[in-house]
Amino acid sequence: MVSRFLSGGLIAALCLLITPWGVAEGTMKIGIGRVVITPESPVWLAGYASRTKAGESALHDIWAKAMVIEDETGAKFVIVTADLIGFYMNQTEPIAKQVETRHGIPRANILFNASHTHCGPVVDNDGLHITYGLEGVEQERATAYTKHLGELLVQVIDEALADLQPGTLHWGIGEAFFGKNRRMYTIGGVTNNYNPIGPVDNDVPTLVAKSADGTIRGILFGYACHNTVTDLQQFNGDYAGFAQIEIEKAFPGATALFAQGCGGDQNPLPRRKIELAEKYGAELGAAVSSVLNGTMTPVTGPITARYKLIPLALTEAPTEAEVAKQLESDNKYVVRRAKKMQRQYKEDGKLPTTLPQSVQVWKFGEAVQLTALSGEVTVDYSLLIKHHYPKEKQFVMGYTNGCPAYIPSLRVLKEGGYEGAGAMLYYGVHGPLEPTVEQDIMNTIHELTKAE
Ligand SMILES: [Zn+2]
Repeated sequence: MVSRFLSGGLIAALCLLITPWGVAEGTMKIGIGRVVITPESPVWLAGYASRTKAGESALHDIWAKAMVIEDETGAKFVIVTADLIGFYMNQTEPIAKQVETRHGIPRANILFNASHTHCGPVVDNDGLHITYGLEGVEQERATAYTKHLGELLVQVIDEALADLQPGTLHWGIGEAFFGKNRRMYTIGGVTNNYNPIGPVDNDVPTLVAKSADGTIRGILFGYACHNTVTDLQQFNGDYAGFAQIEIEKAFPGATALFAQGCGGDQNPLPRRKIELAEKYGAELGAAVSSVLNGTMTPVTGPITARYKLIPLALTEAPTEAEVAKQLESDNKYVVRRAKKMQRQYKEDGKLPTTLPQSVQVWKFGEAVQLTALSGEVTVDYSLLIKHHYPKEKQFVMGYTNGCPAYIPSLRVLKEGGYEGAGAMLYYGVHGPLEPTVEQDIMNTIHELTKAE
């Protein structure tokens, strides 16, 4: 599987050297940045509605990390990963704009991926904010943390840009098996439990950055599975946090960056014990190590990046009268969403009819295609991308740039259940999405993939 693309990579390298239209011959450069984002004072923990107090300590530090790649033509590409429940567009867009202004790096060349740990801090602009219902001091703490986090994200990108030095990229895919489909079919419909016949994605895509002397500097790896092993009051990166620790121990001096895949309907099962998070982290670490210890495909540029923000249509919005009626519900989440919708009616005169979905496609020469989607993307998207394009080249990410809601495939939407419909409530959005969701996203991926 690797050798097939080794030849592709070599052909690309040769083309680069002899190309008559003059791609500037140069060396690839790599820059790495890392910064601890563990809150220094109590902040509410994101992910579970059942929590009753803020998190005050950490099982291990949580991180934001950045890898900057400068290809042979001098174009720069920025990947930021973080142990957070999600990234939100009202935070990532201003940062991307800042990076564009200060460093001349276009929006398409920057991506932010969150691990979706359920033991990270709540950020103020969290799409799931409605779940927690924070008020008073808890809200102030979340606001203060969010502001600080924004500064740290700029800092980690700046650090990686300042660190650029000649290097090489290498590619391979490992496997891990603890991620399980969590949409169980029952006579009464889909429930949140292990589904042994549901689709999964076992791939562990791994992109390794080495310095010119071969020292491993950065290891970007992915897996499609919720980071929901632990439901503690202590900040931690869950299985992905443990995996990064394991990998950094196995390759001293290297920075490990975890990217969440299309794990919207995948859970690490069984779960709820710290030992299990450690075990899955070790499994993922072993998968990455076996890729690094095997034959990897050399990756050459030029790298191309395409980005498009598309609107995903929502089903018809409730009227103002229907929203008013929802305020009388005895479900606190329905009431919170109704209050939000009432505000939207007051301020905008209407409710949103679409959700913003970012679609990003990067091509690394002939060796790797990286497709990154915003939201809690269900696994069918990853499998579809790997069906349409060579599976061996695909690095697919969900939870990138923003998190407007769960992003169901047409199948999941039709089946309903939490990811298909129910979870819209916790994102404070009416819904569900229209059945065009899958076609709209896949058509955009095809468009961006074909673009020259
Ligand atoms: Zn989730």
